[in-house]
Amino acid sequence: MSAAARVAAIQLIVRKTPVAAESRRGPVPEMFGENVFGLEQMRARLPESAYKALHSCMEHGQELDPALADQVANAMKEWSVERGATHFTHWFQPMTGSTAEKHDSFASLEGGKLLMEFSGKALVKGEPDASSFPSGGLRATFEARGYTAWDPTSPAFIRETVNGSTLCIPTAFCSWTGEALDEKTPLLRSTEALSREAVRVLRQLGDERVAYVYPTLGCEQEYFLLDRDLWSLRPDMVATGRSLFGAKPPKGQELEDHYFGSIAPRVLAFMQEVELELWKLGVPVKTRHNEVAPSQYELAPIFERTTVAVDHNMLCMEVLKQVATRHGFQCLLHEKPYSGINGSGKHNNWSMSTDHGENLLDPGKSPEANMRFVVMLAAIMRAVDTHADLLRVTIAHAGNDHRLGANEAPPAILSIYLGEQLTDVVSGLIAGTGRGSERKKETMRLGVNTLPSLPRDATDRNRTSPFAFTGNKFEFRAVGSSQACGRPNAVLNTIVAESLAYVADEIQKLKGQKGLEAAVNEVVVDLFKKHQRILFNGNGYSAEWHAEATKRGLPNFRNAVDAIGNFCAPKNVALFERFAVLSAKEAESRMNIMFEGYAKAIAIEAQSTLSIGRTMLLPASQRSQAMVAQSVAAAKAAGCDVKAQEKRLRDMAMRVEQFVGAIDELATVFEHAEQHGGSPQEHAKTYRDKVVPAMAKLREIADGLETMVDDAEWPLPKYREMLFLQ
Ligand code: ADP
Ligand code: MG
Repeated sequence: MSAAARVAAIQLIVRKTPVAAESRRGPVPEMFGENVFGLEQMRARLPESAYKALHSCMEHGQELDPALADQVANAMKEWSVERGATHFTHWFQPMTGSTAEKHDSFASLEGGKLLMEFSGKALVKGEPDASSFPSGGLRATFEARGYTAWDPTSPAFIRETVNGSTLCIPTAFCSWTGEALDEKTPLLRSTEALSREAVRVLRQLGDERVAYVYPTLGCEQEYFLLDRDLWSLRPDMVATGRSLFGAKPPKGQELEDHYFGSIAPRVLAFMQEVELELWKLGVPVKTRHNEVAPSQYELAPIFERTTVAVDHNMLCMEVLKQVATRHGFQCLLHEKPYSGINGSGKHNNWSMSTDHGENLLDPGKSPEANMRFVVMLAAIMRAVDTHADLLRVTIAHAGNDHRLGANEAPPAILSIYLGEQLTDVVSGLIAGTGRGSERKKETMRLGVNTLPSLPRDATDRNRTSPFAFTGNKFEFRAVGSSQACGRPNAVLNTIVAESLAYVADEIQKLKGQKGLEAAVNEVVVDLFKKHQRILFNGNGYSAEWHAEATKRGLPNFRNAVDAIGNFCAPKNVALFERFAVLSAKEAESRMNIMFEGYAKAIAIEAQSTLSIGRTMLLPASQRSQAMVAQSVAAAKAAGCDVKAQEKRLRDMAMRVEQFVGAIDELATVFEHAEQHGGSPQEHAKTYRDKVVPAMAKLREIADGLETMVDDAEWPLPKYREMLFLQ
C-alpha cells in the first residue's frame, strides 16, 4: 500500500453518491416483520392448540410440549420456502461476542426426487461441532461436541441475500453435559429468576394478579462509518477495528457541529436501507441521528422483552455491517476507533414489565404503584451497590478500556444517578420527613401518599453516570458498542433477582407483626440508608468524584484485567449458583474466556502495530528522511545557510531512530508475553503491563513522524481523511 493508493481512494470518495436500497420498499406497517415467523404467521399456519401453546410459551415463558415441534417445524418450513428459503440454520450466540450459524438445506432425496423437508427434531436440536468455539476450559474436561436447542421465546426469521434466503432459528448452545457455551442460556435462566423473585415481591405487596415479570431492553447502538476505500488501506482497522496510529487532526469534534447535525446524503441512504432491512426482520428501529464525534452515528429501537431485544441487537450489528459494505462504508462498532475522539457505547435501557404490561419502574399515579416503584428502586440500589464488582465485569474488555474512565464515557466506578427529585424522595424517606426539604414536614408514607410526578425531561440527564434513572427505566451506559449485550443483561437480571428475593423475605418477616405499610417502610428505609453511597448525581468525570468514591468505599476497577477476576469471587459464584444462572464451572470458563479474549485482542493489536510500523511507516519515514538529507546537502553545496534545515533533519533522524528502538522494544515484550505461560489471568496481566505501554510508546513516536514526513509518502489514510471524507 502506498501514498498513491491513499490519494486514489480520496479522489474516488469525493465522487461517490448515495446508493439506492437493494431491498424492496413498501409501507412500513406492511413490511414490518414480513421476514419473521411471528404470531400472525403462527396463527395462520398452526392448529389452534399448537398456536396457543407456542403463544403462551413466548408470552408467558411457559414450557412447550416437545410433541408440538413437528407441527411448528412444518409450518415454519412452508412459510419460509414460500418466501424463497432454501436453507435453515440454528442461530446462536457463542462466547465470541457475535453470532454463529451453520446452514443446511431443506433438501432430502426420496427415490431420486428432491423434497424440501424440515422435521421437529431438526428444529429442536442441532449438533454443531463445539470444539472450535471458546469454552474457557470446559472442553478440556468434557466432550468436544455441543448442541443447539431451539429457543421458542425468540421468533425465527428469514435472512435474505441476493441469491437466496435462509431460515434462522434462534437457539441456545450447550455442551453435551449441559454446560452453557453461549450468552443466551444464562440470559434465559436469569429472566426466569428475575420473574420468580419479582412476582414474590409483588405477592408480598398484595398483588395477586401478576403471574410473570419480564425484563425489557432498548439498546441505543452507536457506531462510526468509514469509507471502505480508506478502510481497506488501514490494516489496523481491518485487523483490530480501531486505528493503532494517527496524529490528531487539525479539526476534531471541538466545534460540536456533528451531534444531531443534518445527516449527509450518502449516510442517510445507508441508514434508510438498514432500517428497511431491520423492519422486515421485525426489529422496531425508531431513532437515527448523528452522534458527537465526526462520522459517528446512533440507531435506537423501541424497547422489547430483553431476550428478543438482545437477539435484535445482534441483528442490528450484523445488518449495520452488511448494509454498510453495499454503500461503500465500513461500519466500525469498536468502542474506540480513533484515539482523541469520542468512543461508542451501547446504552442499555433496562426495566421490568409485568405480564399485564405495567412497567415496574414507572412511578405511577396511585399510592400502590408508588409503593411498588419505591420497593423496586430500593432493590435495584441494593443490587448495584452489593454487586458493583460483578456488573463491572460485564463491561470489561480490551475495547472498552479505552472508554471507561476516560473523559467522555461513564467512569469505571459504578454509581447510580437518580436526579434531584427522586434523590429528594430517598432522602426524605430516610429522614422520615417526607419529600424533600421545602415541603411541609408531613411524613411521606408509602402506600398512602403519592410521589411528586417525576419529570422525564431530557435536561434532567446526567451523561456522565454509568447507571442512570431516566424516568421509567435505568440506563446502563457503560456497555461497549461492540458488545453482545446478553451478558450484561443476564448479570443485571440476576443481581436484581437476588435483591428482590431479599426484599420479599424481609417484608414477609416483618409484615406479620407490623402490617404491610410499616414493614415496607422499614425495609425500604433500611436499604436506602445502607446503600445510599451508590447514589451520585454530580459529574462522574471529575477528579473529586474519584476521591469521594474512594471515601465511600466504592470499588474502582480501572481496567478490564482488574475487573474480570471478580467474576469468580466466592460471593458471585454463590449468587450464580443460587439462581441457577451459571454453575461454578460455567462461571470459571467465562472468566477464562474474558482473560483470554483480552490477551488475544492485545496480541492482534501488537502484531498489527509491529507490521505496520516496520513495513509501512518506517520505510516511508526513512524515504522522507533521505529526501530531506539530500536537499540539505544540495543546499549546503550551493553555499546556503542550512542551520534550520539541519536541525529539522536531526530531529527527524532522531525520531526515526527512536521509532526503530520502539519497534524492537515492542517486539521483545510481545515475544516474551507470547511465551509467558501462567494462568489466563497472569497472561492477560503481562499483556496489560508490558505490551500495552510498549504499543502506546511506539504510537506516540509514529504519530509525531506523521506530522513531519512528506504527505506524499505517508501510506496510511490520516485522521482528517477518515473522519471527514464521506
Ligand atoms: P435517549 O435520550 O437516552 O437517547 P430515548 O428515549 O431516545 O433516550 O431512547 C432510550 C431507549 O430506551 C429507547 O430504545 C427506548 O425504547 C428505551 N426504553 C424506553 N422505555 C423503556 C423500558 N420501559 N424498558 C426498556 N427500555 C426502554
Ligand atoms: Mg441516546
